[in-house]
Amino acid sequence: MPDRPASPLRIGLFGGTFDPPHVGHLVAAVNVRHALNLDVLVLMVANIPWQKEGVRPLTPAEDRFSMVQAAVADVPGIVAGRTEIDLGGPSYTADTLTALGLQYPGADLFTIMGDDAATGLLTWERYQEVVDRSQLVVVDRPGVAIALPAEVEWIRVEVPHLEVSSTDLRLRFVDGRPPDFLVTEPVLSVIHSLGLYTNGENAGR
Ligand code: ATP
Ligand code: MG
Repeated sequence: MPDRPASPLRIGLFGGTFDPPHVGHLVAAVNVRHALNLDVLVLMVANIPWQKEGVRPLTPAEDRFSMVQAAVADVPGIVAGRTEIDLGGPSYTADTLTALGLQYPGADLFTIMGDDAATGLLTWERYQEVVDRSQLVVVDRPGVAIALPAEVEWIRVEVPHLEVSSTDLRLRFVDGRPPDFLVTEPVLSVIHSLGLYTNGENAGR
């Protein structure tokens, strides 16, 4: 009798600028991985987040990758992704899903986002490819009135609401308020060793 085919891998793609990565990202990641029984959830570091480009100076992608690596080093099933950095140029989730499909042939792909990102889905480059190649997952995010684009199907995962944002964290490093407990110790240590966020040049919203 032929072996039963193994069930397809379930891979989550949670993309972001992660400037810096914080506990809101991590709480969302571990809860989505658990709720959807994902084999791996990738925190994918945007190379050039084109919707944020020009709005404020960004921390170099490699430094953001180092922070995400530090954030997930001890977290089972969550990994830092550098596919978008390696592809170069502006980062489009449609292309990232193509690359992940090649890396994990036959896998079920899930594109995960906070609800502020979800409300903007229809503005994404080739969003229909994202819809076709993956199942869309939205995690509840505090402070945003949520009306999801009805054109597509969503999986909703409820996670504890944490009022943490990278924008607030960048400001904290400038004005001296403590970042403690909002970012994990390994991330703080990368921030300090690379000297990030000290001059305030990328602190703006
Ligand atoms: P910024 O303030 O610079 O926009 P951010 O905190 O929103 O940063 P991003 O890197 O922009 O972080 O977000 C990456 C993904 O994480 C997005 O899908 C976003 O909706 C989601 N996200 C951000 N903050 C939270 C949070 N506190 N809880 C859950 N998801 C979040
Ligand atoms: Mg954001």
